[in-house]
Amino acid sequence: MSAAATKSKTIKGQTGDWDIVIGMEVHAQVLSNSKLFSGASTTFGAEPNSQVSFVDAGMPGMLPVINEKCVEQAVRTGLGLKAHINLTSVFDRKNYFYPYLPSGYQLSEYKSPIVGEGEVFIDLKDEQVRVGIERLHLEQDAGKSLHDQHPDNSFVDLNRSGIALMEIVTKPHMRTSEEAAAFLKKLRAIVRYLGTCDGNMDEGSMRADVNVSVCKAGGYDRFMQTGDFKHLGTRCEIKNVNSMRFIAQAVEYEARRQIEIIENGGTIKQETRLFDSRQGETRSMRSKEEAHDYRYFPDPDLLPLVLEQAWVDGIKATLPELPDEKRARFIKAGLSAYDASVLVAERETADYFEAMVAGGADAKSAANWLNNEYFGRLNKAGLAITEGPVTAKANAEIVKMVAEQLISGKIAKDVLDIEWEEKTGDPRGRIVEARGLKQVTDTGAIDAAIEQVIAANPDKVEEVKLKPKLAAWFVGQVMKASGGKANPAAVNAALKKRLNLPDEG
Ligand code: ADP
Ligand code: MG
Repeated sequence: MSAAATKSKTIKGQTGDWDIVIGMEVHAQVLSNSKLFSGASTTFGAEPNSQVSFVDAGMPGMLPVINEKCVEQAVRTGLGLKAHINLTSVFDRKNYFYPYLPSGYQLSEYKSPIVGEGEVFIDLKDEQVRVGIERLHLEQDAGKSLHDQHPDNSFVDLNRSGIALMEIVTKPHMRTSEEAAAFLKKLRAIVRYLGTCDGNMDEGSMRADVNVSVCKAGGYDRFMQTGDFKHLGTRCEIKNVNSMRFIAQAVEYEARRQIEIIENGGTIKQETRLFDSRQGETRSMRSKEEAHDYRYFPDPDLLPLVLEQAWVDGIKATLPELPDEKRARFIKAGLSAYDASVLVAERETADYFEAMVAGGADAKSAANWLNNEYFGRLNKAGLAITEGPVTAKANAEIVKMVAEQLISGKIAKDVLDIEWEEKTGDPRGRIVEARGLKQVTDTGAIDAAIEQVIAANPDKVEEVKLKPKLAAWFVGQVMKASGGKANPAAVNAALKKRLNLPDEG
């Protein structure tokens, strides 16, 4: 990275420049029909306590049985994060009391996680930045308390109790709120490509805790060079930030808060804070001294989880092409890094683009068409790419007609609007041919239109000799006279000849 790029990531305080340092812990709900240690269903939005087995309810004497599907999903995610898979991992009991935790402990791979170090490349405006992954471990979700059902009583819903979560922990490698949001976005894309988590933040399928510290500018680089945490400041952990926008707000607020404390002679205490999205601020939840002692110990009801390398290799063989690989392939096909990143962000979008190319559209033109025209229309209508009214084949046909100079770029937009409304599936035959929208390259017709415009504006003909810029006005008039169908290049050439205009450079 260039020095200039590094510089722009610091922020100014009263006493000088500061580095912000961010590490994230993301809880991603495993896509699986049943829970981590029971056969109860995981369907979202079910009637409270309708999806609870005796294991999930913490009934004494019930034994957990690990769900192979959840283990497979964790391994698949680990492989997608290019991470080391630990063939032996161990579930510990994390002991604490809460009404929605009937067993009194949560099973979590605390000391020996199933997945070790890996990496994610996040997409910034014009560069990719590597974020190291520390680990991924499996754990159970807890139930939840319902406080809004009755004026005096709280209730407990155990549907979520026992659902498998992957906790994915990054190294403190991020430096700006944009990077933190870009990380979550990329992680979401990867798990969605893999089919291991639906990434639905609204339903809580992905929840992020964000760790933020600040240090005097240069501390981050020294940490990255040496790996020594002494170069970093003390961190605060912000719990459960559940949207991309809130992550950005929480990081910015928290960094400012910490810088202000230090610059006023104070020190940062390590603590857990909560983001209040209504006030846009973080508030203290508990300090490190108040942190629970969870008394972790290996669960005596479970054996260590031991995997066979061949089983892991079998999963590896079924991995789909992931966003970065797709992105590299798209760049090779002629797309800019930016366009490629936009197209691979969702698998469905990449598939749509590829279907256009398979339909004969040139890759770069197809990307431009989607980014400049089609995505905007989808956004405006609030539609996902899979819900849009225009097929990839139809969009490919429009792009092809422009490339063949059968229609102008302007007419192409009209054709798209018509196709959007009428869904003909055949814009070439049923729109362009049927409505006579073909571009006019026939010089006779263009010359006739030019004569018409000249006859109506004799004064302008004199003027254009002195003001060559006026030629554009003529082109516009002729285009208008042709109903937008004239080939602009042909009009330009014919006008120059007719008006005796010089060829400007
Ligand atoms: P714990 O187990 O207490 O939560 P970890 O060492 O696992 O602590 O760190 C949790 C998260 O905090 C990780 O995402 C890590 O990258 C991040 N982190 C650690 N030190 C810092 C720091 N100085 N500034 C920002 N983030 C940090
Ligand atoms: Mg932690």
